[in-house]
Amino acid sequence: MTPRRSIIPVFVPHLGCPHLCVFCNQRRISGEQSPATPEDVKKAITEGRARLPEGTGATLAFYGGSFTAIPAGEQEALLAAARPFLLDGSIRDIRLSTRPDAIDRETLERLRYYGVRTVELGVQSMDRAVLRLSQRGHTPEDAERAAREVKGAGFELILQMMTGLPGDTPEKSLATARKFTELRPDGVRVYPTVIIRDTPLYDMWRAGLYREHTVEDAVELCAEISEIFDKARIPIVRLGLNPTEDLSRGDAAGGAYHPALGELVLSRRYLARERALLTEADRGADVLFAVNRGRTSAATGQKRANAETLKREYALKTVKFTERDMPDMAVERVEG
Ligand code: SF4
Repeated sequence: MTPRRSIIPVFVPHLGCPHLCVFCNQRRISGEQSPATPEDVKKAITEGRARLPEGTGATLAFYGGSFTAIPAGEQEALLAAARPFLLDGSIRDIRLSTRPDAIDRETLERLRYYGVRTVELGVQSMDRAVLRLSQRGHTPEDAERAAREVKGAGFELILQMMTGLPGDTPEKSLATARKFTELRPDGVRVYPTVIIRDTPLYDMWRAGLYREHTVEDAVELCAEISEIFDKARIPIVRLGLNPTEDLSRGDAAGGAYHPALGELVLSRRYLARERALLTEADRGADVLFAVNRGRTSAATGQKRANAETLKREYALKTVKFTERDMPDMAVERVEG
């Protein structure tokens, strides 16, 4: 049996980050206002451990901000606070997220010493113009070098990309996904752009200088991106911003914010497979699809969206689903 693992999160909102990317308001994204201290780290681990059942392996995760852009002494203070818990087995390992241009050999040595196992790189795009217009302050080459160094040093590598950034196009996002597959990350996170209040992007949008990346745009594009990563056997560990109360209550002013974005994308991928099994000759037919166990709701779509779309597009009489033991994501036509 695979041992259970759990994440103990510590948010380092904007701590030490020398940039202001147009889309970023880390304080609002993480729902926290003040930077984390070594005391916060100890408290998070102690409280997190107390909530977890015996025998559950725990990972301490520093999320938000750019961990390795913090002055070295402060990085060490946060990591040192976690060290006793690592040594006594309260936590198994540490993961953190950072920027590509805040990675070098010395930094990686420090992370290794303190038991960091996973490094997440916020790359966002491999397109130079998109990075410039988003004021990322690093180049595609920085991202490629950092990814290779992180992997080369034996860390687990997670790459983060965004869709719908200023100057972005679906083709550019697909090219970023393909480039990621060459870098062989252990996982990816895909974040369609959300327009968050108090960010330069919000002002650009209000001034008509940025076209919103809608939920529909994101669903369509991320369905294709998911196929690229699936084919390359690279797990998507997250799709879409984690919903928070603040974002849901209005901090997410526009863009691709949806609490169930991952499910919408999954359903869209099913829709493509279902369409591929239908032709004009099916007009007026009763159609029955077989899908893997537990997948009927994804294959049918939220509020039966896929079934209704197919009925409309192919003038079908009924669209129904049945479950069988099948490879995941497979769809077959069966006799009713
Ligand atoms: S590098 Fe990260 S933390 Fe810094 S501004 Fe950009 S998105 Fe925000």
